[in-house]
Amino acid sequence: MRYNYSTRPCSCGSGRTHYPLHDGHGIFLTYACESCEKEKLSKFRPDILEQYECDEPLDGDFY
Ligand SMILES: [Zn+2]
Repeated sequence: MRYNYSTRPCSCGSGRTHYPLHDGHGIFLTYACESCEKEKLSKFRPDILEQYECDEPLDGDFY
């Protein structure tokens, strides 16, 4: 059975389709829709979407 998240309504209750949000490195953050994207992103670092500097290697095992 195939699970397609793109057709699921967002958990915020807006009824809009949600989609995955990623940071500047393409790392998954959370799901959000057009209604709550800014609100959910505000809980992360303000520069999360930028290619921020990081001392830790980010090309490790994520999966
Ligand atoms: Zn939402």
